[in-house]
Amino acid sequence: NKDIYRPDIIINKNITSYITIMQGCNNFCSYCVVPYVRGPERSRPVTEIEDEMKKLAENGCKEVTLLGQNVNSYYDKDNKINFPKLLKKLVKIDGIERIRFMTSHPKDLSEELIETIASEKKLCKHFHLPVQSGSDHILELMNRNYTSSLYIEKTSKIREIIKDVAITTDILVGFPCENEKDFNDTVKLVEKVRFDDAFVFKYSERKGTEAAKLRDDVKEEEKLRRLNYILEIQAKISEDINNNEVGKIVDVLCLGKSLRSSDELKTTTDKNKKVYIKTGEDKIGKILKVKIKEKRTKDAFFGEII
Ligand code: SF4
Repeated sequence: NKDIYRPDIIINKNITSYITIMQGCNNFCSYCVVPYVRGPERSRPVTEIEDEMKKLAENGCKEVTLLGQNVNSYYDKDNKINFPKLLKKLVKIDGIERIRFMTSHPKDLSEELIETIASEKKLCKHFHLPVQSGSDHILELMNRNYTSSLYIEKTSKIREIIKDVAITTDILVGFPCENEKDFNDTVKLVEKVRFDDAFVFKYSERKGTEAAKLRDDVKEEEKLRRLNYILEIQAKISEDINNNEVGKIVDVLCLGKSLRSSDELKTTTDKNKKVYIKTGEDKIGKILKVKIKEKRTKDAFFGEII
């Protein structure tokens, strides 16, 4: 996932930072080289992660993104601590105001995790949950270990438990054997789940993977057509969702000076929406209550401090 995920946020190292909580992957998605190059999953001990986060807090960091190929399967076996329990410990660290994580594998997304995120203010209400395809046939060939209905069930559960939440995804089009029906199943899933945003990629062969044994039979121009089609549908959905953000009162974290205007700061909501506000540099690193006044671009807003 790390290979294909593009974080949206511009990192100001003083305010936001990353902590790797685990490495490797046991999933062997058929198109991915990570399990071969990074080896099996290894989770860092809880105390080590806590110490690193405390140090970041001492240095002025306010928001930490926990990293791992599949954070949902984090497990400190000596202390019997799974990912939701790790989060419950990390929210107690003073100075850190927000915690994000990526990336999650849908098969390991538990109700315990959703409940934990719902109950803790510091845990950002944003799930990046790569679906890759809406076709059960292709999901099987990808060795993703879930069906499209299970994926839809999990995203419905997230929205049932957390009322105001952002869900983003990764989609891979043009996987070997993906026919028109398979592709339409992906389109239907995108329309049903209504993601806040989607990162869409064309399949390309990675040597040594299981998928590389399949004939790469979707023509390049067809892959491109499918990619553009999904992007077009997703753009309309994102626009609708973002229109609904206008008027909301939200907490934003001030990340740094805006590149557009010297009297503005760039901030983000816990759903990872960008909001620009007029205020001074002394507010960098602070969480402010803001009313979202208008959309500035398709995925950025202008807000006023209230
Ligand atoms: S979950 Fe799949 S795509 Fe993500 S790193 Fe593991 S094998 Fe690769």
